[in-house]
Amino acid sequence: MAERRGARLNFDTSVSEVPYPEASVAKRLEIIRPALEADLVINVPKLKTHVYTTFSGAVKNLFGLVPGYTKAGYHAKFNNLIYFSKMLLDIFNFVRPALNVMDGVVALEGDGPGWHGHPRKVGVVMASLDGLALDVAACRLVGIHPERVPTLEIAREQGLVDFEGIEIKGCQEKFVGFKMPSVCRDPAGYVQSGFFRSFVHPVLISMLTARPVPIEDRCSGCGTCLSACPRGAIEVRGGVAVVDHDLCIRCYCCHELCPYAAIDLRTSWLGRLLRRTGVMGRWSRGEISQ
Ligand code: SF4
Ligand code: SF4
Repeated sequence: MAERRGARLNFDTSVSEVPYPEASVAKRLEIIRPALEADLVINVPKLKTHVYTTFSGAVKNLFGLVPGYTKAGYHAKFNNLIYFSKMLLDIFNFVRPALNVMDGVVALEGDGPGWHGHPRKVGVVMASLDGLALDVAACRLVGIHPERVPTLEIAREQGLVDFEGIEIKGCQEKFVGFKMPSVCRDPAGYVQSGFFRSFVHPVLISMLTARPVPIEDRCSGCGTCLSACPRGAIEVRGGVAVVDHDLCIRCYCCHELCPYAAIDLRTSWLGRLLRRTGVMGRWSRGEISQ
């Protein structure tokens, strides 16, 4: 298509390190050079669910400016959902795209953003000069509460977006029945009451969080997940990936990047029970202790 339209594709992934003192957490950014040298950036995200960040839109899409496996280092450094989301916002604020155009013609629902998600025809293209407003509008369109998307809730706290002040032009029909990710992404999301919070400690958290589990008869032993893992928590033994859950920080990069959809996310019976009863599973900024 690029050839037909005469568009020039970028294959240059050389990187520059840039200081960003105004950032909330990522004071130095590693960004591909073409983005730094561009006159302006037009951001074209896909409308997707995401097992870690709940939703992937204009803000999350710009994580793509961090090249290849450098991303793993970011996951290691910003190793919980709050810091990771703040880092995503830092990148977004640094780049500040001139225009954001979201492709929701065929979106991804369920356990996105990788092979475990399911394509779903939503039939929309949305655009805004403000990527945060676009993400809020897209979330509402498919029934995701923006306050449950960490990047958006943090942006609201930082005064970057006003959920109620967004004007939508064009079709405002809601899309019904869009499937959310099936797992809880982060231990912080479990903390729903003071009583429960007081009992949360690392061992309990690790018991409750969905674990990445390689599926033996799908795994080819290709090693893609090894290279993506920010904690070196995966090795290939006897041609099959094995995860060390004590090292794993539940970033789900392996789940996202496995080309054979051979990483399953499994929640313990206790985690499933607590989620069903509504004790956990809802991300709420005010209830998270850092
Ligand atoms: S990326 Fe997938 S197929 Fe390849 S080793 Fe890891 S789990 Fe197996
Ligand atoms: S094993 Fe998977 S989920 Fe765990 S840290 Fe590595 S890439 Fe992230």
